[in-house]
Amino acid sequence: MKVGLFFGSFNPIHVGHLIIANHMATHTDLDKVWMVVSPQNPLKPKKTLARDFDRLHLVRLGIGDNPRIEASNVEFNLPKPSYTIDTLAFLTEKYPDKTFALIMGGDNIASLHLWKNYEQLLANFDIYVYQRPGTELGPLATHPRVKVLEAPLLDISATYIRECIRKGQSVRYLVPEPVFEYLKDNTLYKV
Ligand code: ATP
Repeated sequence: MKVGLFFGSFNPIHVGHLIIANHMATHTDLDKVWMVVSPQNPLKPKKTLARDFDRLHLVRLGIGDNPRIEASNVEFNLPKPSYTIDTLAFLTEKYPDKTFALIMGGDNIASLHLWKNYEQLLANFDIYVYQRPGTELGPLATHPRVKVLEAPLLDISATYIRECIRKGQSVRYLVPEPVFEYLKDNTLYKV
């Protein structure tokens, strides 16, 4: 089974994330997509980052009942800050029957040469890249392990959603309905 890992802070998850996850799970040879929730980095200010388990809960609510997409909290218990190469090493050992691949936006492939052990990443894992407007993919996009896909994109971000919530503005339809309902009745992102 081939699993694509889609890393993010998902603070909170929004429909832009889910469109990408579903596209990768249905338009490629990936059997599944795991949305890997990045834990709080103890070295970084966490003023606007919701607690790990709140974000994980929202990712689960957002995915709903979809056999091809799952939420993963694997990085919560790994040393922090978590480096992708270390998470992949851990997952490869834990799930020897699965093949792991990475999913990332064009902005990330352009700066992949700055990641820890990026040569090792490219040598061992396929990378599925979705184009983002206004970003050059850079030279690594032509690497044989890299597959560039055209996926439908929405011009929304978690930052925008947090701003709306803080100002008391509606985020209906920008986040999946169960996430909207949860946020409506919760203090998350309101202060
Ligand atoms: P923030 O605004 O807080 O930085 P974000 O919405 O960009 O958050 P992340 O959780 O950091 O979300 O995103 C996870 C991954 O999804 C990142 O690689 C990011 O580039 C990508 N992503 C975020 N929003 C979109 C979108 N609307 N379309 C496609 N990809 C997106």
